[in-house]
Amino acid sequence: MGAQSVTILGSTGSIGKSTLDVIQQHPNLYSVFAITANSQIELLLQQIQIHNPRYAVMASPDCAEQLRMETQKLGLDTEILGGVDGLSVVASHTDVELVMAAIVGAAGLLPTLAAAKAGKKVLLANKEALVMTGQLFMDAVRDNGAELLPIDSEHNAVFQCIHGSRSDSLFDLGISKITLTASGGPFRQTPIEQLSEVTPEMACAHPNWSMGQKISVDSASMLNKGLELIEACWLFSASPDQVEAVLHPQSIVHALVSYVDGSVLAHLGNPDMRVPIAAAMSWPQRTSSGVKPLDLVEVARLDFYQPDLQRFPCLRLSMEAMKAGGIATVVLNAVNEVAVEAFLQRKIRFTDIPVLLEEMLGKSVNRPLNDIAMVLEQDQLARLSALEWIKDQSRSQRAGL
Ligand code: NAD
Ligand code: MG
Repeated sequence: MGAQSVTILGSTGSIGKSTLDVIQQHPNLYSVFAITANSQIELLLQQIQIHNPRYAVMASPDCAEQLRMETQKLGLDTEILGGVDGLSVVASHTDVELVMAAIVGAAGLLPTLAAAKAGKKVLLANKEALVMTGQLFMDAVRDNGAELLPIDSEHNAVFQCIHGSRSDSLFDLGISKITLTASGGPFRQTPIEQLSEVTPEMACAHPNWSMGQKISVDSASMLNKGLELIEACWLFSASPDQVEAVLHPQSIVHALVSYVDGSVLAHLGNPDMRVPIAAAMSWPQRTSSGVKPLDLVEVARLDFYQPDLQRFPCLRLSMEAMKAGGIATVVLNAVNEVAVEAFLQRKIRFTDIPVLLEEMLGKSVNRPLNDIAMVLEQDQLARLSALEWIKDQSRSQRAGL
């Protein structure tokens, strides 16, 4: 069998780079068909030179034009596409087998969905896409014969513990509960009264994982774990009361699956995303990932705690949105994306993130999601309200109110 061709949506990000690293270790198994980025021209150009893909796409048309000039100067034959439509073109192209969905946030939704609709093997890192669309996304996967392989370390861990089994209900698999672990991020022990003063740099300094800025802030607020509980419900047909999160500061156990007979299967590994990436890419076979073997004697201890919902209100709010379903999870995701961006730009405080979320979730009238157009519309409405709130907030701060 020849090498499988891979499109990497978001190749310049943390997951994208780790994916290219795994591919480079196995040139006989994988070849790079397309890589994409938002606006990082230089890095994408470097990746083109190393991996020689058939296509490279930049979401920003201006950046695509610049990149096209650079590649022509260097005599490279990679075809450059520009604009968001180009992302869906390379995600659904007939010559692609695997699509790594590693764009951050709602921007990844349409190309990831295009891959599912084209019946690809979809390696899903972009959890926001699934949180926003839920059943609509799962239907697209099923109706088009696509295969969905989780990349999020916790979900990949569950997937491995259940050997990739699928069922419409967890109980049919004899499973009573899925437990996702969370490190607790950089503020697990910070005195609560100091959280209003933390900076973006402090929030992005994750103790165990090296990740993009948005997911780092989400990990610090534990909204990330909230998104992951919602993601787990859709991926594994679990109900909200069958999924839970526990704090595990060492990030060695990634998930646990409890069976009705009292057996609990856990997945362990060093905290390096190349482990789930290599596992998903080669599934059901196994290949090396380049990650050093786990030494439990060196780790020495594995601790587990109940998360404190006072400290992590974003986790509580996500669990409420998960139970509500429908529009609530779209609002949760959209408002959080806007809030995290505003926090990174120092327009709001870290502790404003849950305040904004609670207000926006409280305001929205929940309804079931009919179609993707409705998801996109609700996403936009929620973003506009959140931006308005932030503008008012900074206006009153400037006025010293
Ligand atoms: P990142 O910020 O490092 O990279 C994001 C990538 O998306 C970049 O290639 C960027 O160019 C691209 N991108 C950003 N905005 C875009 C837009 N508007 N249009 C097109 N492309 C755009 O993020 P990351 O840490 O690699 O995370 C990617 C996804 O994987 C997220 O959904 C995250 O939740 C998930 N994930 C990441 C990790 C991790 O360890 N980093 C772990 C689990 C899940
Ligand atoms: Mg995760």
